[in-house]
Amino acid sequence: ATPTALMVGTGRGAQLGILIKGPEVLESTRRVDTVVLDKTGTITTGKMTLLDVVTADGEDRDQVLRLAGALEDYSEHPIAQAIATGARDRVGVLPVVEDFTNIEGLGVHGVIEGHAVIVGRTRLLDDWAQHLPADLDTSLRAAESEGKTAVAVGWDGKARAVLVVADAVKATSRQAITQLRALGLTPIMLTGDNAAAAATIADQVGIDQVIAEVLPADKVETVKRLQAEGKVVAMVGDGVNDAAALAQADLGLAMGTGTDVAIEASDLTLVRGDLRAAADAIRLSRATLRTIK
Ligand code: ADP
Ligand code: MG
Repeated sequence: ATPTALMVGTGRGAQLGILIKGPEVLESTRRVDTVVLDKTGTITTGKMTLLDVVTADGEDRDQVLRLAGALEDYSEHPIAQAIATGARDRVGVLPVVEDFTNIEGLGVHGVIEGHAVIVGRTRLLDDWAQHLPADLDTSLRAAESEGKTAVAVGWDGKARAVLVVADAVKATSRQAITQLRALGLTPIMLTGDNAAAAATIADQVGIDQVIAEVLPADKVETVKRLQAEGKVVAMVGDGVNDAAALAQADLGLAMGTGTDVAIEASDLTLVRGDLRAAADAIRLSRATLRTIK
């Protein structure tokens, strides 16, 4: 590969809204056969809204919103922002949180007005022996089967509510998946979200392989496993939870709309956060390297 031709490739990339870390990146792009895609913020907009608050018997809805909203106000997760914004819209000023902890891929914890509050996956609440009552569990599953994300809220040893949030698939994601397939690549969705919600979104964009309910630390393990099977893996992601997997992949592609950590861990940045640029990048690199040969 001549340096000049590679520089042309990177220049063309910039026109397409693709930032390439170094010309050598194009070489690995050419060999990719599998594309692993994060869901939230990558296939979907990541801009979630709070749709529903389901409280357990005898719980006060406003108190649920005050405590859960206050806690989530300290997290940058898209789910958290939806809950904090939705809570503030409904109940006004949120109380102060002490001892905030983010439990990556599971939820958040903190002390508010003397209450030890948790918001997150039911798995997290189960760890704290705060098991969802049957009616809340039914509401949570119903929301998930519609492709929404539902998280549980508990404090002082008791699960008290389920909050339902949802975001929308980006208008361009389905077309991007079609383009990736046309290039001979196999798309796989990889997400920490629940299996039912993941399957619904995958179906909307035309992905048939889904790996769901994956903890952030296990995203990188999934990429390693695919590589051990002989696949050459591109990973597309946006979150802090994707960074290790982006670095491990043969080619890491970050959404320009995503976190700095994800961008730093990646070889390419899709500036506009449009997934179709992933297909453009692979097409460009193949074309550039063909010119050189
Ligand atoms: P993704 O892979 O889709 O970007 P994450 O790994 O960031 O998802 O999160 C996985 C799951 O953990 C979420 O779907 C949610 O159930 C839970 N979770 C993570 N962070 C939070 C939070 N701040 N508040 C509530 N739930 C959370
Ligand atoms: Mg994400």
